[in-house]
Amino acid sequence: MNKTILITGASRGIGAATAILAARKGYQVCVNYLNNEEAAQRVVDSIKKNGGKGEAFAADVSSETEVSALFETIDRTFGRLSALVNNAGILETQMRVEEMEADRLHRIFRSNIVSCFLCAKEAIQRMSTKKGGSGGAIVNVSSIAARTGAPGEYVDYAASKGAVDAFTLGLSKEVAAEGIRVNGVRPAFIYTDIHARGGEPGRVDRIKETIPMQRGGQPEEVAHAILWLLSEEASYSTGTFIDITGGR
Ligand code: NAP
Repeated sequence: MNKTILITGASRGIGAATAILAARKGYQVCVNYLNNEEAAQRVVDSIKKNGGKGEAFAADVSSETEVSALFETIDRTFGRLSALVNNAGILETQMRVEEMEADRLHRIFRSNIVSCFLCAKEAIQRMSTKKGGSGGAIVNVSSIAARTGAPGEYVDYAASKGAVDAFTLGLSKEVAAEGIRVNGVRPAFIYTDIHARGGEPGRVDRIKETIPMQRGGQPEEVAHAILWLLSEEASYSTGTFIDITGGR
């Protein structure tokens, strides 16, 4: 039977690496993106070049109407979803809490946590054995910032990721008896574009000496943990987290 996976924010970084690995593992891959159609198409081309199945789907996953339309398009293209990775996320420029304005806070919380609720809601309707589905698995991409709080840089982002962790725990228990597992990964210091968005493109290299492994991580190292949590090998794990932080 075909397995279909949606990875939000899969045009670049951790999401793109997860999409490419998921295709290698036999999933039909829905590559969601916000604006960067060219990058999303490159991910799809790479999947197809290697004999896999994938399509790019533009949608702002912080918008309820766009998420609902996204899932309907996926139903028509690939059929019922069996896996969801809530990966899309943003950072804003590093600053202290007393400088943060409400518009920024709304953007961060909509993109990083409201998006997870909206996508999970649609996924559960398709996966839940109580609703005629055949089960599934969800992985939420949190951050080590949920543990550290990211003082002086982006406490708002850290708080949104703390919310992702609480969401993962609560949802995992809510749907455990309906054939759906929900887990999280908490990466840190991964070489992607997100650090430039926070105003410090070289952040990983600045910090790397303080990481026990003394190096930054690659998106593929996060992707492997995500795909393991989604797989049957993790069949008795729900409501749990894998930290991918080089030992920090
Ligand atoms: P990235 O390279 O900046 O890529 C972000 C991806 O999210 C892009 O594909 C972007 O699409 C998409 N996106 C952003 N907002 C979206 C929205 N509203 N709707 C749909 N797609 C949206 O980021 P990354 O570093 O790979 O981060 C991925 C996840 O890992 C995030 O949740 C992040 O918080 C988490 N994380 C990253 C690190 C790290 O060190 N990199 C550490 C801890 C946690 P476009 O290309 O169209 O803009």
